[in-house]
Amino acid sequence: RAAPPRPHVVLVASPGAGHLNPMSELARRLVAHFGLAATLVTFPDPSAAGPQSAVLSSLRDAGVATAVLPAVPLDDLPPDTRVEAVFFEMIARSVPLLRAMLLRDAAASGAPPLVALVPDFFCSAALPIAAELGVPGYLFVPASLAAIHVMRRAVEINDGAAAGEYREIPAPLRLPSGVSLRREDLPDGVRSREDPMYGRFVEEGRRYRAAAGFLVNTFYEIDPATVEEFKRAAEQGAFPPAYPVGPFVRSSFDEDSASSPCIEWLDRQPTGSVVYVSFGSAGALSVEQTAELAAGIEDSGHRFLWVVRAPSLDGTSFAMGSSDNGKNKDDPLAWLPDGFVERTSGRGLTVAAWAPQVRVLAHPATAAFVSHCGWNSTLESVAAGVPMVAWPLYAEQRMNATFLSEGAGVALRLRAGRDDGVVVGREEIAAAVRELMEGEKGRAVRRRTGDLQQAADMAWAPEGSSRRVLEEVAGRWKAAALGVGKEK
Ligand code: UDP
Repeated sequence: RAAPPRPHVVLVASPGAGHLNPMSELARRLVAHFGLAATLVTFPDPSAAGPQSAVLSSLRDAGVATAVLPAVPLDDLPPDTRVEAVFFEMIARSVPLLRAMLLRDAAASGAPPLVALVPDFFCSAALPIAAELGVPGYLFVPASLAAIHVMRRAVEINDGAAAGEYREIPAPLRLPSGVSLRREDLPDGVRSREDPMYGRFVEEGRRYRAAAGFLVNTFYEIDPATVEEFKRAAEQGAFPPAYPVGPFVRSSFDEDSASSPCIEWLDRQPTGSVVYVSFGSAGALSVEQTAELAAGIEDSGHRFLWVVRAPSLDGTSFAMGSSDNGKNKDDPLAWLPDGFVERTSGRGLTVAAWAPQVRVLAHPATAAFVSHCGWNSTLESVAAGVPMVAWPLYAEQRMNATFLSEGAGVALRLRAGRDDGVVVGREEIAAAVRELMEGEKGRAVRRRTGDLQQAADMAWAPEGSSRRVLEEVAGRWKAAALGVGKEK
């Protein structure tokens, strides 16, 4: 007799490498370690078609089924609609398609029993489908748990408030870790109730209450106080429980095993000598700031590997390829100051747009990371034991930078991103890089990063904290499937 089909989990990843990458790692591990079948559903992402299809195809190789929802028309939105608003609108319009797909699959004969639906934190609009299908809905969080803490604050202070009466998150906001966030350091969208996105975030957060729990891409030791605080809140029924199940750092993607000029170059550099500079999948600097950064890196005297993205011409720091403000399609390297590449050719490599970051960070030559503090980049850096210079740009990166420099102690923070519109001078950049590589304060940061690297390693070792937590959750899903079977 054929073995009964494995209990099935459907995961839904919102667009963007920072959401898809960690969620695919979650899907892969559910299949590899916990006896589940998994399908990862995502959205069309024309701006990142190449990287997206590489991730999806490597998932299929790992036994995870994949599906991409059909594109939904958005051409009725006013042309000046903000990228974030387009993003949430696209998800909202796709939910009925997701629902139809899941209902159809559930009705198919011989379909494996669905035991959980796991949308990510920007797809909470999909949670009602879980209820309809009679399975628990868990939200995957590709950000820090502190980010969910801030969302929870936004929900709690707006209990009962209607649109138009929304209240502001009080600032400074003290996080459970003891770090205090200035208003400027709150995530985009919830910094001010005047922000047109504020209501969307409050609504998103309100839907969180319907979740059976959060599966968070973090690990206990990086922020124990927030994990404990969520435990207390869940015991009181104030908010769903949060399960730290990361860090999900991808290891062996197909794209990564190909030969890469970055890795070949790193192979020729001394151990612990290179500063890696990158602002994630969508970070953009102004033309002036790009020039100052080049000068600062040059003045630091250190070796470097810099992933250069085309500067933004309209002052925004967020430039997704598909969005209106990602319209600068010029060769990014053409924006570097005259003679920069020639002068630094003996000790620096500049690459356009994209590097195999996980491999770069894990390379023995890499010693420091000038980073926009996206949460994935942060975890990848910590998992590789690489300390950071924090240079936040958008989303919740300022909050991450504050936490990483003042709480976790794994980064030195620049004035950059502290205040909008400030161009960080070359002296400050050079000084921060030198401090992190050679200085006393830098030494403390380097030591702390080493400690957290060990903890990150342990979290997914056999019997590690994150692994046990996920095993427990998966065990509950499977037990529920068996229970249903018996009733029939
Ligand atoms: N990434 C990469 N190469 C690049 C830039 C980004 O591989 O040149 C990957 C990076 O390793 C991370 C993700 O893209 O997994 C970016 O996620 P993060 O949360 O750091 O930032 P976001 O791009 O979402 O702002």
